[in-house]
Amino acid sequence: MSDKLLVIGEVKEGSLRNVSYEAIAAAKKINEEGEIVGVICGNGELQALGEEMIYYGADRVITISHEQLKAYTSEGYGQAILAIVNEESPTSIVMGHTAIGKDLTPKIASKLNTGLISDAVDIEVDGDHVQFIRPIYSGKAFEKKIITDGLTFFTIRPNNIPALERDEARSGEITPKDLEITDIRTVIKDVVRKASEGVDLSEANIIIAGGRGVKSEDGFKPLYELAEVLGGAVGASRGACDAEYCDYSLQIGQTGKVVTPDLYIAVGISGAIQHLAGMSNSKVIVAINKDPEANIFNVADYGIVGDLFEVIPLLIEEIKKLKV
Ligand code: FAD
Repeated sequence: MSDKLLVIGEVKEGSLRNVSYEAIAAAKKINEEGEIVGVICGNGELQALGEEMIYYGADRVITISHEQLKAYTSEGYGQAILAIVNEESPTSIVMGHTAIGKDLTPKIASKLNTGLISDAVDIEVDGDHVQFIRPIYSGKAFEKKIITDGLTFFTIRPNNIPALERDEARSGEITPKDLEITDIRTVIKDVVRKASEGVDLSEANIIIAGGRGVKSEDGFKPLYELAEVLGGAVGASRGACDAEYCDYSLQIGQTGKVVTPDLYIAVGISGAIQHLAGMSNSKVIVAINKDPEANIFNVADYGIVGDLFEVIPLLIEEIKKLKV
C-alpha cells in the first residue's frame, strides 16, 4: 500500500460528475493496491458526496467546505488542492479533463513544478510500466506517454475509462478539513446557467447531433424527440450553430465540445474535419445524410442515405416499438 493516489472530485449542481468516479477507476488501474484518497471542494454539506466516492472505490475522502469554494475559481480551488497535496504527498493525482480540470490541473502542476499528462483516454499497465494513451492531431492519432520520474499527474477524458461498480457495502473515513483560503482576487458575483434540459452533452452515452441539413430551429425538434426515446442528448455542428438553429453550447468539434459517447448519430452533418475532431472517437457512429458522398460516411460505422425528415420519424417509430 505504498502508493497514495489522490482523486480530485468535481461537483456539479450538488452531485459529483461521473468523470470523478471514472477517475477513481483510473487511479485503481495504475495501482490496484494503492490507497485512493478522494478530495472534494465546495461549500456546505459534502459528507454524502464523500460517501459516493467511497462507494465507487475511494479508500478515504477529504472534504473542504469553505465559502470561497462555493463557486469554482482557480485561486480558491488551487489553494485548497495544493494544501492537501502538500499534506498527503501523493504519488499520483488524477482529475477529469473537464472545463475545470483543464483550468485547474496545469496551474497545480506548475506550482508543484511537475509535469502533467492531459486528456488520457486509456491507461495500459504492464507491471510497474504505466502508459497513458491520449489523442493528438484532433483525434486523428494516439500517442503513448510514460512518466519516468516523480509525481504521476494526469487528467482523463470523460466517458472513456469505465467507473467501477457502485458498492454501498464499502466504507471509509471521510475527513472534513478546515483550511484558510485567502487572497482570492476573482469575485464571482453570479453564476448564470443556460436553461438546458435533459442529459449533459459531455457525459452523454448517446448523442444525436444536427447540422446545417436540419435547416431550421424547428428542424431540430425531431432530433430532440429521438434523443428522448433513446435517453440521449442533442448536439450540433458549428454549421447549425452559425445558422442560429441552436445554441453554441451544443457545438461539437475542434472549437466546441469533444465527446466520446457510445453512440453518435450525425444528422445532416457533412463531416468537416473540424467537426470530426470532436466526435470521431465515439464508439459507434451512425450518419444520416442525403448525399452519399458526404465525408461523414468515411468515419461512420453505419450510414443511412436519405432525407433526415423521413428517416428520423421512422427511427423514432421503430425504437418506440422495441420499447413496448
Ligand atoms: P454543411 O457542411 O453545410 O453540411 C450539411 C449537410 O447536410 C450536407 O452534407 C448535406 O448533404 C446534408 N443535408 C442537407 N439536407 C439534408 C436532409 N434533408 N437530409 C439529410 N441530409 C441533409 N465545425 C464544427 O462542426 N465544429 C467545430 O468545432 C468547428 N470548428 C471550426 C474551426 C475553424 C477554425 C473553422 C475554419 C471551421 C470550423 N468548423 C467547425 C466549421 C466546419 O468547417 C464546417 O463548416 C461545419 O462543420 C459544417 O457544418 P455542417 O456539416 O452542419 O454543414
